[in-house]
Amino acid sequence: MRPWTRRAVDMRGWIRECWRIWRRMVACTDPRCTPEEYLGMSSASGDKATIVRTAGARAQPALSTLYVLSAVGNLGKKGVIMVIGHTDCGLQGADDEEIRRLLVGAVDEGQEEKARGTLREARFGAFVRPDISVMEDVDMLTASPFFRGMEIVGFVQDTETGLVTEVSEWRVQENRKSDVQSREIEQAKANGGK
Ligand SMILES: [Zn+2]
Repeated sequence: MRPWTRRAVDMRGWIRECWRIWRRMVACTDPRCTPEEYLGMSSASGDKATIVRTAGARAQPALSTLYVLSAVGNLGKKGVIMVIGHTDCGLQGADDEEIRRLLVGAVDEGQEEKARGTLREARFGAFVRPDISVMEDVDMLTASPFFRGMEIVGFVQDTETGLVTEVSEWRVQENRKSDVQSREIEQAKANGGK
């Protein structure tokens, strides 16, 4: 077992509790972020979840699926939706306008106007930091009238370690890291000044 897998197991107890009730996940399409793998789900152990994967783990494009799941399921009255973003995501630092420009630029000659029209209202969900995009989506789902009885929880997966951390804890860890970095920079400056 890889070390990160062992550490991810620590979270599984809690996540399994969520899975027992109605569980849904929104995760990124990135092949490195396959929740079945990093959370060790299997049919044999009966702990699989319904996973909707979208670019950047954005909840907006997952909505029609989440609505259908509610309509045929619990009508949003109980259960958990987990939104799991990740570090080093392709949509982090991207730009919706640039994505639109690339797509329109690649269509066949004569199709540009149609392509531009099709993408005019499209939102691709580019973001600056995974915790911010995840919490935006958690807030959006929480405010929705369709999931009122559900617990909506946000996580960030560290793509390097595979660890999945709840957003509030992830922020604490990131702040700690940047404190250490700025202390090191200060230290280097002080040493350089001698
Ligand atoms: Zn991603």
